[in-house]
Amino acid sequence: MRAVTFQDVGRIELDDVPKPEIQEPTDALLKVTTTAICGSDLHVLAGRIPGMMPGSVLGHEFVGVIEEVGADVKRFHEGDRVLASFMIPDGTCWYCKRGMFNRCPDQRVFGYGAYLGDINGGQAEYVRIPSADICLHPLDGSMSDEQALFAGDIFTTGYDCAAEAQIQEGDVVVVQGCGPVGLFAIQSARIYKPSVIYALDSVDQRLEMAEQFGAVPVNVKNVHPPSFVQDATGGRGADEVLECVGALPALSQAIDLVRPGGRIAVIGVYSEPEFPLPMSLVFTKGIDLKMCGTANVIGKWEDVLKLTREGAVDPTAIISHRMKLDQALEGYRIFENREALKVVLTP
Ligand SMILES: [Zn+2]
Repeated sequence: MRAVTFQDVGRIELDDVPKPEIQEPTDALLKVTTTAICGSDLHVLAGRIPGMMPGSVLGHEFVGVIEEVGADVKRFHEGDRVLASFMIPDGTCWYCKRGMFNRCPDQRVFGYGAYLGDINGGQAEYVRIPSADICLHPLDGSMSDEQALFAGDIFTTGYDCAAEAQIQEGDVVVVQGCGPVGLFAIQSARIYKPSVIYALDSVDQRLEMAEQFGAVPVNVKNVHPPSFVQDATGGRGADEVLECVGALPALSQAIDLVRPGGRIAVIGVYSEPEFPLPMSLVFTKGIDLKMCGTANVIGKWEDVLKLTREGAVDPTAIISHRMKLDQALEGYRIFENREALKVVLTP
């Protein structure tokens, strides 16, 4: 079967690899119908994910039809149409039993290397789904592949950030970073009826889309964001900052942007060993700094599918390119160069 495989740092290939098979009784075999390239796939490509073996298949956003199930799979059957989560929690631990699937110490991730379970991903014609009862969600005919696809990762991740920010009606919200996750954070924040959402980025195309979703675009190349937001709020600052960038200067800026007593919800991915937190400033301002960590996709995907079903959010709006799986390398190229906002692939 055809699959996008990791070869070396900076090098992926479209390969013919053996079709996966059921290995455990809790597995399902999925025929992929739609998949996508995610920003976190670029971390794999850039060699920032340790333990990616040459030949392993990328991809952790996908929808498909079940072709076969193992003997212990209870919730699904052959022919079922399903959405997959990017994460594969064990479903049995203290955290999983309490619905905190993103805190599961034994979780694995599709297409993300040996340290996260060595599970092949879904940018392929077929993918093996471990713990199928936990990490799949049934889809009925009311929702298209494209509508459901992002509930397995970026939509729910943006939603999680907005939920953790505890936005109140009438608040001033700042969203830092208008990549796919930031754009979903904007659309999710809107549900809480803030008075305004300022969207910060430097890429015009992304800012235009943020504006389309109801945010006020702020190009960080043209203004100093903390001064801009202070001026706009009578010197007070933002009630909530949704940090969707994942770079230390963005975290510093979030601390400057938020008002005293305000909250910063961080969903951008940080891997730096340390950060010089301005203790006196953070303490005096009484900032609530919430590190969201990996989003609780399985705990919250029902929420975002409901928003999609009701029409409150149209996840397909962020899709800039639709390509065949065979064109995946070109898809990666334009996504990496920020010529594409979101690339969807069909085998
Ligand atoms: Zn667990």
